[in-house]
Amino acid sequence: NWDLILYVNLELVNKMSNRRFIVKEMLGQGTFGQVVKCWDTETNDYVAVKVIKNQPAFYHQAIMEVSLLRTLNQKFDPDDQHNIVRMLDYLSFQNHLCIAFEMLGQNLYELLKRNQLRGLKVKYVQAFSKQILEAMVVMRDAGIIHCDLKPENILLAPSVTTAAAVKVIDFGSACLEGKTVYSYIQSRYYRSPEVLLGYPYTTAIDMWSFGCIVAELFIGLPLFPGASEYDVLQRMMTILGGQPPDDLLREAKNTGRFFKHVGNIFPGSETPDGIASAYRILSEDEIEARESKRPKVGKWYFPSLKLDRLICTYPWNKSELTETEKTDRLALVDFLKGLLEFDPNKRWSPLQALYHPFITGQPFMRPYEPVPETARIPVTRAAAIDHNPGGGHWL
Ligand code: ADP
Ligand code: MG
Repeated sequence: NWDLILYVNLELVNKMSNRRFIVKEMLGQGTFGQVVKCWDTETNDYVAVKVIKNQPAFYHQAIMEVSLLRTLNQKFDPDDQHNIVRMLDYLSFQNHLCIAFEMLGQNLYELLKRNQLRGLKVKYVQAFSKQILEAMVVMRDAGIIHCDLKPENILLAPSVTTAAAVKVIDFGSACLEGKTVYSYIQSRYYRSPEVLLGYPYTTAIDMWSFGCIVAELFIGLPLFPGASEYDVLQRMMTILGGQPPDDLLREAKNTGRFFKHVGNIFPGSETPDGIASAYRILSEDEIEARESKRPKVGKWYFPSLKLDRLICTYPWNKSELTETEKTDRLALVDFLKGLLEFDPNKRWSPLQALYHPFITGQPFMRPYEPVPETARIPVTRAAAIDHNPGGGHWL
């Protein structure tokens, strides 16, 4: 009963800090607790307060959220220039951790819903993508994996100029690269192949989710709305073509849930997409035999087209596109392909993606080939700008 729970927490929040925060309304709720809009009597401004349930597991995860966000805000983004939510304060009240954030607007899922789940104009997809990427560059430099990027966790922000602005929120699932603890992470539609397959993960999983978000902003619907993990994987393979690389499949611990080892690679053993592999994805019948439960069909339907047709023919009626619209879409497809790359080692980094013509607005003529980055060493923005004068070089 949410009314009751809300009431209990309203009481709590009203009591805390000598009523420093006066609760106005509920903004969101989740497994962790609730987010409420409050009037801060000390600063005379609205704030969003996340009230965490008073249970040890939630409390500890929230301490992690506070510590990662403090690092990001203070050390990596002291001037609030990189589209990451500002944490204003936090306090512990009767084992409820309460975190005060700057007040932001609607999340991008609400925005799409308000737009009747029709996609946004390319210029908004481009502007939002660029801002999210800027946050991701900082997160990667800090070695922080967000682990839950999705439209619900990207919020519209009041903007200094008239241009639309967004910020990344919710570091409640985040962790440090190299200190990954959990294997069941990311929201299913936005879950990366390496997490699905149970393979050690890096900040590259956020790039996968980001790719899913960008596509969703354009088509208005989730790209891989799978009803099960198998369903998600199958949708990925249908839309993107291909499958995760063999060395990932060989080493990942969940491969056997989805794939069958069909022996060594030999001529003629290629997948329908022409990839030589020692693995093939299980058929639906094989999955059914195993789970005695057919993967359910997703809630959303769109033609099961390959990515380029899906994007280039949107909204999938026969309307004519202008030349500019056509090239915008070709650039978008090329952009998405670098983000939705099955191999986490080949997937673009945030900085590499930032110099794609779709983001820079330079004319798109050929597939983008980013400047290689020294594998795991963070590249400073200045260094990258020096080496990347024209939005990457062409092959
Ligand atoms: P959870 O871990 O449950 O996802 P979030 O931090 O994502 O918690 O907050 C849940 C929801 O509350 C968000 O999707 C958003 O709609 C709302 N919300 C969170 N932070 C803010 C904020 N700073 N300003 C406005 N709304 C917010
Ligand atoms: Mg959230």
